[in-house]
Formats: sequence, C-alpha cells, structure tokens
Amino acid sequence: MTGRAQLELDRNQYLELEKIGLGAFAPLDGFMDEATFHSVVETMRLPSGAVFPLPVVLDVSEADAERMQASAGVDLTYDGEVVGELEPRDFYSCDRPAAVRQVYGTDDDSHPGVAFFNRQKPIFVGGPVRLLKRASFDISADELTPDETRAIFAERGWQRVVGFQTRNVPHRAHEYLQRVALEHADGLFVQPLVGHKRAGDYTPQVVMAGYRALVGQFLPDNKVVLGILSTVMRYAGPREAVFHALIRRNYGCTHFIVGRDHAGVGGWYGRYEAHELTRRFEGDLGIEIMRLHGPYFCAVCDGIVTEQTCPHQGSDVTHEISGTDMRRVLVEGHQPDSRLMRPQIVAAIDGLPLFVED
Ligand SMILES: [Zn+2]
Repeated sequence: MTGRAQLELDRNQYLELEKIGLGAFAPLDGFMDEATFHSVVETMRLPSGAVFPLPVVLDVSEADAERMQASAGVDLTYDGEVVGELEPRDFYSCDRPAAVRQVYGTDDDSHPGVAFFNRQKPIFVGGPVRLLKRASFDISADELTPDETRAIFAERGWQRVVGFQTRNVPHRAHEYLQRVALEHADGLFVQPLVGHKRAGDYTPQVVMAGYRALVGQFLPDNKVVLGILSTVMRYAGPREAVFHALIRRNYGCTHFIVGRDHAGVGGWYGRYEAHELTRRFEGDLGIEIMRLHGPYFCAVCDGIVTEQTCPHQGSDVTHEISGTDMRRVLVEGHQPDSRLMRPQIVAAIDGLPLFVED
C-alpha cells in the first residue's frame, strides 16, 4: 500500500460525510462496512446491538475501488478541495433486490428510495471518516449542528425538547401537531429535511420560508428552534421514522413526533406502521416517541381535530389535509383553503421556486 488516493464526492455523499462527522448519525463514525451493512439491513441494529435501521454507505465505481484498495488512506474531496478523510477497511457489493426488499419492503423501482439505492455505484466502501471541512451550500446557513442545538437547548434551560421532522411547507395539520407537542414540552425543534429529494417535493427555500412565517407569526419563537437537516430523504417509511428519531436524539431532543405515514410516499406503507415499528424499539432508542394521529379538518367540530377527538371521521364533513393535495393546489397557482393552510404562509412562499425538479 502506497500513498494516498483521492475520491471526489458528489453533493449527497458530502452531506452524508458531514452528518457522520458532526455526530448526527452517532454512534456511526464512518461509512458502513459489509458486516455492519448486513446487520442493519437484516436486524435494524449495528453489530454492537445499537438500534440503527438504515444503511449509510459510500458508493464508488470499480475503478475507484481498485485505486483506493492500493492506497494507505483516502482524501475525500468536493469540487477538488479536500473535505475529509476515509480509512478504507472494506470493499463490497450486495444483492440489491434482496437488500431493498428488506429495507423498503419492495424492490419496485417506482419507489423513490429503491430507485435511489439502485442507482448507486456498484461498490460500497466501509471505514471510519474524519470531516475536515463543513459543507457550504446555499442551504448550509440554515443548518445547526448537534453541538449547537444542544448548547441552545441548555442555554434556554429546556429539559423536554420535542423534535419535528418535515419536508413540507407547513399546513394546519403540522401546526396542530407542533402545538400539541408544545403543550407537553419546554421547546420544539423543527428540523426540515432538505437533502436530495424526489422531483415534485418542495424546495428547501419554500419549506424554510413557510416555517419562518409560521414560527415568526404564530408560534412563540422563544419556544421553537428552526434548523435544517441536510441528508438524503430515503422514503423508507417506518424504518426511516426510527432513523429520524435517532438523529433528533443526537441533536439533543428528548422526544420525537411520529405522525401518520411518517417518511412514507405514495401509499407504500400503512398509515400507522411507523407507530408500530417505533414501539418495537421502545426504551432502546434514547429518545421517547410521541405517536400522534393524523389531524384533519372537521366542519362540525369546526377546527383541526384527530380521530382521537372527533367522532365524524370518514363522513363528508371531514376534510383530510394531505400534502399531496396541497402541492397540487399550489402548483396550479390556486390559493389553498385557509382552514387547511394559512394565507400568511402562502404569501411567504409566493414567487419562490416551489418544487424540486428531476
Ligand atoms: Zn368532528
């Protein structure tokens, strides 16, 4: 083994390196080796026994793998600049259809998480990493590190902090969940996920603009911290709910909201499958799960309610607040029903690029 090799990362890979380096994926300290990968895919645990439901891998071409195998260490670059180091320990490939069936419950390529996994380069490299330079993308200024959020929560004296995952412009159902959480906690950490998303998902700019309007105008801003999480959206439903909870634990949250069809897409997962899976790991996550039902609007109750509090569900007086419907209304240039999305939020995102393009 001689000298050091270089490997140029793409944007997604750089963000994964950054998350590992910042401790967002703790206890992971590198990209997964083969034993870890299989342990995670098959048992949702690291070989140490710690819960970890999704693979975090570094994919490379066969030529890059060969180059790296012959070197003592690897400098990870982005745009030609060294941003990290990898100590490569393991080069492997996997049976992709089998792996995605376990992780996503399907090998259908129309599932965006499956498609993303299948598009990765053929060889995975495992080994510990060191982050030398943080990312500085357009979105990075809105990102807080786990150290920073922990310091903010401590400074504010928060004991109970609820984490909220989102990839949407906030509508009234999100707001309802956040208010419920705040009734039970000292503070709320809203952390929109803005990494690689499928075409048709909201852009980071509109999600943040929507949340700035919500937090600035409708929530007590001394009880809410807003910061993005830049990582790939996996659309892995229940497994990703567990992953999202672990990440928020690492940012210092004590509680995490799992609502209806968390991290799901297009009906691949049951409405409350993520509730069930998180329950399986109860007491083993280092964070408590707040399992909440999906709020909807009821004309008789005259407000946002859930099946826990309203007896009219399923009748024609209730109106589901679906992110998909909301997107359609916005893309058609219409004003969403103000009972479902606040006009001030619609105004705040006016003129911004709404959706991620492929
Ligand atoms: Zn009702």
